[in-house]
This record gives sequence, structure tokens and C-alpha cells, in this order.
Amino acid sequence: MSSPLHDKVAFDAPPIPFDNSYAHLPPQFFAEQAPAPVGAPQLIKFNRALAHDLGLDVDALERDGAAIFSGSKLLPGSQPIAMAYAGHQFGGFVPQLGDGRAILLGEVVDGSGRRHDIQLKGSGPTPFSRRGDGRAALGPVLREYIVSEAMYALGIPTTRALAAVTTGEPVYREEVLPGAVFTRVAASHIRVGTFQYFAARGDTDSLRILADYVVDRHYPEIKDRKNRYLALLEAVAARQAALIARWLHVGFIHGVMNTDNMTISGETIDYGPCAFVDTYHSAAVFSSIDHHGRYAYANQPAIGQWNIARLGETLLSLIDPSLDAAVDLANAVIKAYGERFQTHWLAGMRAKLGLATEEDDDLDLIQALLALMQQQQADFTLTFRRLSDLAESDGGEATFAGSFKDPNSAAPWLARWRERIKRESQLPNDRARGMRGVNPAFIPRNHRIEQSIEAALEDGDFSLFEALLTVLARPYEDQPAFAPYAEPPQPAERVLQTFCGT
Ligand code: AMP
Ligand code: MG
Repeated sequence: MSSPLHDKVAFDAPPIPFDNSYAHLPPQFFAEQAPAPVGAPQLIKFNRALAHDLGLDVDALERDGAAIFSGSKLLPGSQPIAMAYAGHQFGGFVPQLGDGRAILLGEVVDGSGRRHDIQLKGSGPTPFSRRGDGRAALGPVLREYIVSEAMYALGIPTTRALAAVTTGEPVYREEVLPGAVFTRVAASHIRVGTFQYFAARGDTDSLRILADYVVDRHYPEIKDRKNRYLALLEAVAARQAALIARWLHVGFIHGVMNTDNMTISGETIDYGPCAFVDTYHSAAVFSSIDHHGRYAYANQPAIGQWNIARLGETLLSLIDPSLDAAVDLANAVIKAYGERFQTHWLAGMRAKLGLATEEDDDLDLIQALLALMQQQQADFTLTFRRLSDLAESDGGEATFAGSFKDPNSAAPWLARWRERIKRESQLPNDRARGMRGVNPAFIPRNHRIEQSIEAALEDGDFSLFEALLTVLARPYEDQPAFAPYAEPPQPAERVLQTFCGT
């Protein structure tokens, strides 16, 4: 019999029940690296709901969150590593990038059997830091927190925000800024660039280990397929095609779709210079470093395909011993990505217009609206939300056209749309409800994000940050108390550029 004290120790579950797998891959996959303790950490936000869903000890983590989520206190079971990866940045290949300011603490398996990475971002240098300091500033941390949680609430696959802490230490950028650490949860942090890392070294053994690991972790359903590695390429392409279509449906511009920022799991990752378009333009770009619009709004599907082609290249030797045969097989997948994207995009756009049936002319109807919005400098989000209202009333057209430069310009298109929906049997209020379920009232508007960051930086005031998180948690509901958050920026509030989170 053990003593009562002994029992207590034995049964006291750790606050994060780590169950690691990546750290058990061969050593060339990562560098062991503990986070650097910081001076005076403070927990500024903890995502209790997410912690609960992950099966973590919510109260213990909240109590000790400053130390744990700053990396100052390492929990039992954690095996901190920096992952190795490469990547094409703006089209140029860099054979070694890796986690330069991120450290994977370990993995947890939730109650539904899903595995998640828990990673600190901004927790000190690693062997992959190159000239960087391994640190993060508070602004980008708040930004990633807001946008990733907003994407989640919008129903778009994404990494999540578990916690944000300030470190009490300065970070040196163009100015001195308060340091912070972001805790990110992801289905995994494996990227297209992870495959490129080994491909660039001609290390086929590691590539096969990585591919098999990914199939086990993310795509177990293809494990027994005849050509498993071709099936893997297909599966990743399918998820990315669906994901990027979803981005376009809500006006999201990732801003830096380098191959190291594209996950194998199909989650959106790395919210740096991202933005939601307000005044619609297909070529909208916000990122200060995207000089040629490589990652512009409407370029994203094509860049997704380019990135999938880079993934395909890394898998060629596993797909078929004959290079010619492998190239043909991979090319067919890359071509199919384009068709898949188009199918997802069109289905989502039909839903945004409240169309339950399919007609040949729908694509033209959709494109006519987008062209009109662009010409009339209409707000993307408001246009679709207000169209949802029109689905159940004959009036309200003035409100709809209100964000168009020339409000009269909307009438011919509206008449065409009304004719089109007349040919469906859906009841008006069912149509309106359906449309409101896909056309958000609230998106993380750039000016609101900036305002909340500014208040936090200048006055230590996190109330705007909290308000944004509250309203963005229910983006498809009209929340009258938050009506101003649905509005586009005033001219003086418009954010024209966004910056990398480094
Ligand atoms: P990202 O902009 O987050 O996609 O990062 C691109 C690459 O730069 C990754 O290898 C990062 O780890 C690295 N990096 C970005 N910021 C820093 C930093 N402050 N210190 C060290 N490495 C960094
Ligand atoms: Mg990145």
C-alpha cells in the first residue's frame, strides 16, 4: 500500500497532459531548445474555452499562466523543440528557415482523439534564429490572437490562440516595443516547407518518414491507398483548395503565402501582414513587403496552386521511380486543384447570393456583382450582409446601395438577382437566414485591430482588444450593442498597410 501522500502525487494530473510524437522523430527533424525565461511575465489573455476543449487543467493554467505561457516554467512532459523547415519566400527558395522564434512545447490529444501542437511564439532564440532575436512584440501577438480566433468563429480552418503574455522585457524593432509571447495551437506545424527542407538535401529517407508521419497524423484514410504519396499530395491539395476558397468568401488576404506558411493540415497559419479587404478590389494588397502583389486577394488561389506544385516536387521520388511517370501523376493533381478550387469557390459564392439551385448563368451573376462592387468601391462585408436583408424584404435597397459610390448603380444588378431568386422555391426568410449564416456582419476590420493594439501599447488598455474578441466570437449574429464594429472605417481610420509580425 502506498501512503496517502504518494497517492496524491501519483494521481495529480499535469496541467497539460503532453503526448508527444514529433519529438520522437529522428534528430534531423528539429533542434532541442528550451524557451528562455523572461523578467516579469504577465498573463494578458487566456482562452479558457479552448483549454477546456483540449482537455487541459484550465484553473491550474490560468493560475500559473504567466510563467507557463512565457516559457519561464517548463511543465513536466514538455519536450521543447524548434522544428526544421525550408521555404520559398516570395518565390525565392531558402533551404533553411526553421522555427527561429517559435518553440513547440509538445502535443496533446483531445477527448475526440484529435492531436494538437502547443507552441510558443516569441520565446527566445533557437538554432534557426539566424540574425533574429527570437522574440515577438505585443502588437503582432494581439493581432494574431484576434484574427486567428475570428477565423475560427467564421468557421475557417485555422490555428488557434491559447494565451498571450507580456514578458516585461523590451524588443528592439524600428522602435522599442513591449515583448510578448503568443501560445498557438495547431493540428500540426508541418508545412510545405518541411518537405522542402529534406528534398533540398536529397534526403529521401527523411522525406518518407515525414510523409508517413503526416499520413498517420492528418490523413489516416489514405494509408492503404495504392500510391500513398500521390494520395497525400491530392489530399493536401484538396484541403488547400477548400481553405483558400473560404478566404475569398470572407475577403481575407493572408499576405505572405510563402511555402513555409502553408500547412499540410489545411489550417490557416501565420497571421503576419494579413488583412480583410474593406473597399473591394480584386487586386487588394495590404502587406508592406508585397511590392508586386504576389499575394493579392485574387492571386491567392493561383499561389496556392504554385505552392502545391512545390510540394509535389518534393514527393516525386516517392510517387514513382520513373521521373516522367511521377511528373505526369503530380501534374494531374495540380491541375485538379484548380478545378476543386473553382467548385468550392462557386458553391460558396452561390450561398452568399442565397442561391440553393445551380444555373449556368450564376457565375456571370456573381462576377457582375464583384465587378460592380469594385467599380463602385463598395465595402465587401457590408454588401453581402445587406444583400441578406434584401432576401426577405422588397425595400432596403437604398441601404444595400449605400456603400456604393453611386447608389443608383446597383439597381440593374439587383433586378437581375431578384429575377434569379424568383426561380427558386426557397422561402424568403429561409433564404435570408441561410445568407446571414455565410455573410458575416462582423470581421476583424483592420482599423479596429489597429485601434485595439494602439490602446494596449499606449495606455495598457486591453478593453478594445477584449471587446473585439467578444464581438468576433459571433460573427454571423447581428449584435446591436456592437453595431459600430460592423461599419467600415472612416476615411481617416483606413489602414492602408499591414506589417510582418517580426
Ligand atoms: P514568418 O515571417 O513568421 O513566416 O517567419 C519567417 C522565418 O523568419 C521563420 O524561419 C522565422 O522563424 C524567422 N523569424 C521571424 N522573426 C524572427 C525573429 N524575431 N527572430 C528569429 N527568427 C525570426
Ligand atoms: Mg512563418
